[in-house]
Amino acid sequence: MRISRGIVCECSGVSACPDGSANSTCTTQPGGYCFVTVEEVLDDNGLVVLERTAGCLPPDESGFMQCKSSQVPHQHPKVIECCEKDYCNRRLRPQLPEPPPDVTETPGLRPTATVPHTALVAAALCVALLAFLGAFWLLFRMRRKGCKRPPSPPAPAHHAEISSGSGSGLPLLVQRTVAKQIQMVESIGKGRYGEVWLARWRGEKVAVKVFFTTEEASWFRETEIYQTVLMRHENILGFIAADIKGTGSWTQMLLITDYHENGSLHDYLQTVVLDTHGLMTMAYSIVSGLAHLHMDIFGTKGKPAIAHRDIKSKNILVKRNGQCAIADFGLAVRYVAERNEVDIAPNTRVGTRRYMAPEVLDEKLDVTNFEAFKMADMYSLGLVLWEMCRRCTTGDKAQYVEAYALPYHEYVPSDPSFDDMHTVVVGKGIRPPQPARWKSSATLQALAALMAECWHHNPPVRLTALRVKKTLAKFRAESAVKLV
Ligand code: ADP
Ligand code: MG
Repeated sequence: MRISRGIVCECSGVSACPDGSANSTCTTQPGGYCFVTVEEVLDDNGLVVLERTAGCLPPDESGFMQCKSSQVPHQHPKVIECCEKDYCNRRLRPQLPEPPPDVTETPGLRPTATVPHTALVAAALCVALLAFLGAFWLLFRMRRKGCKRPPSPPAPAHHAEISSGSGSGLPLLVQRTVAKQIQMVESIGKGRYGEVWLARWRGEKVAVKVFFTTEEASWFRETEIYQTVLMRHENILGFIAADIKGTGSWTQMLLITDYHENGSLHDYLQTVVLDTHGLMTMAYSIVSGLAHLHMDIFGTKGKPAIAHRDIKSKNILVKRNGQCAIADFGLAVRYVAERNEVDIAPNTRVGTRRYMAPEVLDEKLDVTNFEAFKMADMYSLGLVLWEMCRRCTTGDKAQYVEAYALPYHEYVPSDPSFDDMHTVVVGKGIRPPQPARWKSSATLQALAALMAECWHHNPPVRLTALRVKKTLAKFRAESAVKLV
C-alpha cells in the first residue's frame, strides 16, 4: 500500500535540496520517492570522479528518472536508485556497472582515466564540499533576487567534457528533467546553427534552441561556455539547461535559456524608436555584458576571460526592462590563464562577415593572442552602437530618425562575401557614416565618438569594453547632474 503522506529523504547537491530545507533533508509529495544517483564526472584535471546526489522525487517524475535503471543510454556511466521509506536513501550505495572490457569510446566522451581509490574518495569529498558551498551561494542569490525558479545549472551536463568538474550547480539529473518537461509552443527564430522555439516549462516561458544535427560542435561549445564558472550576468542570456537526446541513428541537441519576448536587437530596432535615455540604457547594458564576458576573475573558482567572436544585433536580445542580454556563444573562446592559452572553439564556424574586424578580414588576427579576440569584439560592438544610434530621436522632432539599416548596407550586397567586406573595410577603410543630426544631441555625440574609437583600424588603439562602460557611466552621471 502506498503511503498517503510524503516521505523524508536525505538530500545533497544544489538541485536536490530545496530552498530552506533543514538538516539536508527534503520531503516528497505523497507517493514520491527518495533517490540517490551516482555518476561519473570529470574534475578540473580531467580525471573521472564519482558524484553522488541524493534527494526527493515526485511520483510523476519517477518514470523519467528510471528509478530502477542502472544506466541512461548515450551517457557516461550513471546509476539511479530509489526507495520509499523515511531516510531510506541514506543507506543506498548504488554501484556503477563495470565497463565491458572492450568499450569503444563514445564520441564526445573523453577516455576515462583510472584513479586510485583514495584519490577518488578525496575528490568525492571535495565535490560534496563544493556542491554545498555552491548551494549556499545560489540560495543567497535567489533570496536576494526573490527568484522563484530553481538555480540555473552552471554544472556538468551529460557530455563528459562539458563538466566544469567542480560538481557545483545543478546536476545532469535536473537538467534532463527540465528538458523532459518542456512543451514546445512555436518557432521564433532561425539562425545559422539552429532553430529557436518558444516553449513552456512549468508554466513559465523559456526559449529552446534546437541545434541542427550537423552542429553538435556549436551546441557543445555553447553549453560549455554557459556553464563556465561565474558566467551569469544580467546582460548575458540566462542559461537554464542543456540536453542531448536520441539513439544511435538520431540525436537532438537542446539549449534552454530565458525567453525574451522582444526578440533580437536587430528585430526590435526595425520598429521601435529610442529616446536618448532608452539608448543609453541599452548601450550601457550591452557593454556591461561584454565587459563581464571579457573579464577574468582570479582565484581557484575564478572566471576565465571569454571573447564572443560573433557580436551583432541578431545575437543580442532585448529584455523587458529595456536592457539587453548577449546571446549565441557557439563561437566563443576562453583564455586559460594558467597555461597562457586560448582554448579555441573546436568547430570551424566563423563569425558574420558583415561584422568582421579588418584584421579578421585580412586574416591577420593572431589566434594565439587572446587580447586580439577581445579587440575584434570591440570592432563589432562599434557597429552595433551605430545601428542603435540611427534609431534614436534628437530634439523635439520625436520621429526624426534614420531607418533601420545594417552596417555597410550602402556599400555591400545583402549577403556580402568575404571579398566584398574586405574591399570596403580594409581596402577603402570605409566605416558607417554618422548623420549630421547626431551632432544636435550630447548623447549621440558621445556615442558617435565611442563607436569610432571601437572600430579603429588598429586593434590596440580600440577602447576596451570596460573603458566604454566607465565612459558611459560617467556620461550618465554628468547628464543626471545637468538635469537637476
Ligand atoms: P544561431 O546560433 O542559430 O544564430 P541564436 O542563438 O543567435 O541562434 O538565435 C537565433 C535567433 O532566435 C535570434 O536572432 C533571436 O531572434 C531568436 N532568439 C534566440 N534566443 C532567444 C531568446 N532567448 N528569446 C527570444 N528570442 C530568441
Ligand atoms: Mg545567432
